[in-house]
Amino acid sequence: MDLPCPIEKLRIVLYPDPILLQRCAPVEAFDETLAALANRMIELMHLYRGVGLAAPQVGVKLRLFVSNDTGEPEGDRIWVNPKLSDLEGVEEADEGCLSIPGVNVPKRRAVSATIQAQDVTGGPITSRGEHLLARIWQHENDHLDGRLVIHYMSEASKIENKTILRQLEAEYANPPRRR
Ligand code: ZN
Repeated sequence: MDLPCPIEKLRIVLYPDPILLQRCAPVEAFDETLAALANRMIELMHLYRGVGLAAPQVGVKLRLFVSNDTGEPEGDRIWVNPKLSDLEGVEEADEGCLSIPGVNVPKRRAVSATIQAQDVTGGPITSRGEHLLARIWQHENDHLDGRLVIHYMSEASKIENKTILRQLEAEYANPPRRR
């Protein structure tokens, strides 16, 4: 597995890091490294009070993400090589992203979806989710194809978030400290 640093040192990658715009490759090795990576992602998701985190957000170009739509430890889920289908309904809600802190974008998403994926051992999982969980899946699945919420911004949203995005761009060009 191509890791930018030891797993315990992985940090959340911030906009405009170009890794966030790349298409990720399928996971092929279901080994201890994959399990450790998923655990580190869960740890970071909780640390930053997120509801989901995709591998490219920690600098790893692989198709997996973690989620927790309940805030309870039992709500932690790992989705490897996910595929979404049977998207139904439409609802709009504000969406944030741990890689673009401070930015919120109103985004229309399907209300419900089916996910087919693998667990960390490679076993198949199928699940049907709606509302927040389905939204997390769609947001995180977008990350695996290099799509970010800011790619969906309306003109109004672009104006509203311009200062924060400029600030993140300036910090990326000249990092103040490691996050
Ligand atoms: Zn995100």
